[in-house]
Amino acid sequence: MNGIVQEQKQFFYTGKTRELSFRLHQLKKLRDAIRRYEPDIVTALKKDLNKSEFESYTTEIGFLLEEIKYTTKHLKSWAKPKKAKTPLTHLGSQSMIYPEPYGVTLIIAPWNYPFHLAIAPLIGAMAAGNCAVIKPSEFTPHVSKVILQMLEGIFEREFVAVVEGGPETSTALLQERFDYIFFTGSVRVGKIIMETAAKTLTPVTLELGGKSPAIVDRDANLDLAARRIVWGKFINAGQTCVAPDYLLVHEDVKNELLEKIKETIRKFYGEDPLQNPDYARIVSDKHFSRLIEFLDDGEIVAGGETDGEKQLISPTVLDGVKWDSPVMQEEIFGPILPVLTFPELSGVIETIREMPKPLALYFFSENKEKQEKIIHSLPFGGGCINDTLIHLASPYLPFGGVGSSGIGSYHGRYSFECFSHQKSIVKQTTRTDFPFRYPDSKNGLKII
Ligand code: NAD
Repeated sequence: MNGIVQEQKQFFYTGKTRELSFRLHQLKKLRDAIRRYEPDIVTALKKDLNKSEFESYTTEIGFLLEEIKYTTKHLKSWAKPKKAKTPLTHLGSQSMIYPEPYGVTLIIAPWNYPFHLAIAPLIGAMAAGNCAVIKPSEFTPHVSKVILQMLEGIFEREFVAVVEGGPETSTALLQERFDYIFFTGSVRVGKIIMETAAKTLTPVTLELGGKSPAIVDRDANLDLAARRIVWGKFINAGQTCVAPDYLLVHEDVKNELLEKIKETIRKFYGEDPLQNPDYARIVSDKHFSRLIEFLDDGEIVAGGETDGEKQLISPTVLDGVKWDSPVMQEEIFGPILPVLTFPELSGVIETIREMPKPLALYFFSENKEKQEKIIHSLPFGGGCINDTLIHLASPYLPFGGVGSSGIGSYHGRYSFECFSHQKSIVKQTTRTDFPFRYPDSKNGLKII
């Protein structure tokens, strides 16, 4: 590992990665490789998570191809040094901001969107002119292999390298002197990353998780709310960082909404979702066992079927859940939707303020004032009004958490900025020199 980092440092200091033509060329190579490897990526995702081809394309591959297209189109203007205003006190000089690559970056990825979440930060790192070491998740070994083969096939390891392994590999990597660490994963490990990075004051981006609520008020369009919540919750079997973790619904419309949710689940996944060949499985035994414990935390009004051998849990809705139930104490990260009710929106705001700041929040209501109230009264990474997840899929919006759901953001231009240091430079003139600032300009003044 030390060898790789040293090689990358040397390569970085040749200045090659700073050349715009080099960056554009490497991004295009990456785009072509993703296209070439598409069948292997889809097969690997099927093996690791039973993802369907449709879901693999829409949530992993398609997103990355769009991101590269957008980045290559705008990179020239992003990478240009920008002129800044100059104050009167600096008369005669010119002020500039140079976006500068950090150097050698470390990208640690999770297993839930194992291809997307390893490659999306890499696009930002390369666009900004950095070298990168990528550590994919050990829980999705087939995808990890494809990432390794694909990237080794197109990049020299002095520029982009892949290191496979679990926590021990991450721990060893963290002993190296990286110039930037981009981590996606759990809050627990995020704290370890930040603590380790603090020892060398290495800057970090932490893309973490948390309990993201979906709030449905009494005036919401319930048909659409049901469809969009079911889609956002059960895609990838609930193993999505921004999935609605739990449902908070106005007590007057709870029964109607739950009926619509049940109907939508049947429509999307069939009478027996466990037999649906495209329904994603739970990534590991450990995760499966943790999730089935939650099934006792309320009344199962939809789903609840499990298959331990195939690690499947059907889309499940749990009614009558209490705030202090175990399922409400941690991020669920699986296909279980607890339902709680509220009589007044103000109570909801107070309750959520007491909890760690969520990564996402979804509010369903036709009332513009209430929409604004939710946006302004609650801290959360980002979210949607009357939808779920889609804020994540826009290159125009920064994606990231706040507080315990993360630090920093990326996607589109924000990925470039995330991996760039803004270096401020004043270019001073040598034609004149204003003497006021020098001690000898105070001649005649008594300095005490
Ligand atoms: P995780 O934190 O267990 O693992 C993430 C990565 O960290 C893996 O590559 C793993 O090998 C490594 N790791 C594990 N233990 C480590 C240690 N002690 N030291 C250093 N590295 C270590 O997360 P996960 O289970 O792979 O992913 C699920 C979590 O990720 C959820 O909390 C989810 O919300 C979050 N997530 C967040 C985003 C986002 O964009 N904000 C996206 C996907 C997932």
